[in-house]
Amino acid sequence: MKFDVLIVGGGPAGLSAALILGRCHRKALLCDEGHQRNLSSHAIHGLLGREGRSPSVFVDEARQELSLYKSISLRGTRVTDIIPSGDEFKFVCADGTTGLTSKVLLATGLVDELPELAGIEPLYGVSVHHCLYCDGFEYAGKPVAAFGKGDKGAELAIMMKHWMADVVACCDGTEVSTKAKRKLKEHDIPLRLEPIESLEGTNGELAKIVFRSGPDLPRAGLFFSTGCDQASDLSKRLGCKRDAKGGVVKDPDTEEASVRGVYVAGDVSRDVLLVAVAIAEGAQAAVAINKGLLRRDGYCE
Ligand SMILES: Cc1cc2nc3c(=O)[nH]c(=O)nc-3n(C[C@H](O)[C@H](O)[C@H](O)COP(=O)(O)OP(=O)(O)OC[C@H]3O[C@@H](n4cnc5c(N)ncnc54)[C@H](O)[C@@H]3O)c2cc1C
Repeated sequence: MKFDVLIVGGGPAGLSAALILGRCHRKALLCDEGHQRNLSSHAIHGLLGREGRSPSVFVDEARQELSLYKSISLRGTRVTDIIPSGDEFKFVCADGTTGLTSKVLLATGLVDELPELAGIEPLYGVSVHHCLYCDGFEYAGKPVAAFGKGDKGAELAIMMKHWMADVVACCDGTEVSTKAKRKLKEHDIPLRLEPIESLEGTNGELAKIVFRSGPDLPRAGLFFSTGCDQASDLSKRLGCKRDAKGGVVKDPDTEEASVRGVYVAGDVSRDVLLVAVAIAEGAQAAVAINKGLLRRDGYCE
């Protein structure tokens, strides 16, 4: 099968690109493995017009909207290889699908490193979070904890003070510098130095943090500062340049990555990591791709 565009990833960025490409009558295949980054969360916050929508409902509705566009095909599979071939790319998927495409859009997203804390899994996305812009607002007036090794937890705790009054920094038995300790004091933030034994709660709601020694700490929420990695190594294997943060670099004029014909959108560029931005970047990449194809076919300069 031959396509104008292969879209790798069906989160907000890939879905948004598919919508614009469908409206441009472009023949596009969207392949998605289905591990959107926010699926463990109950609600998308900060998305104008869709505030509080559940991430899985958002994806279902977007897919439904795309069904109006007959030139767009969706497949629930992982793209395992993309090989440049002249002006085109050959691609291979885990379900055996293969084909040729003129352009590639990588909207493959990131994966988060969860702190290694016993009991975190059922709480993650509900009362344990990493993004203050996404979930900070809901914790005003509630007791919360900032988790991070060394000075990272202290820095996070200080920033959190803007969102919520009752913050305790937890460094899980790691060293915190004298400077960071002084700053915590200045902002009236207690520091718990002891290693954490576990997080306890029910129905996704954190109730308390249990330490290996010392009293338990009742908390309604915990924010952490760890890190995240690219969800796919396709950009690396294609030879796309990455910046110091590990984001795939794109040309602001053409929206292309450093490999001609390859575009990126959403978290993969590690810019602002929000659904609204991923949607915008998907649309922007789709317009750039369509312009490239119009130019190729002599419809514009
Ligand atoms: C717990 C949590 C809560 C969040 N809450 C909010 C919030 O409230 N508001 C907000 O604005 N943002 C929130 N975010 C951030 C938001 O989830 C991301 O910014 C957004 O999902 C980025 O969209 P994306 O399309 O770039 O990537 P994703 O949504 O991660 O989608 C990428 C898709 O590509 C697929 N994929 C990867 N590699 C391949 C491959 N080789 N082949 C096929 N498919 C592949 C993945 O499986 C995934 O389905 C949250 C994030 C987390 C972790």
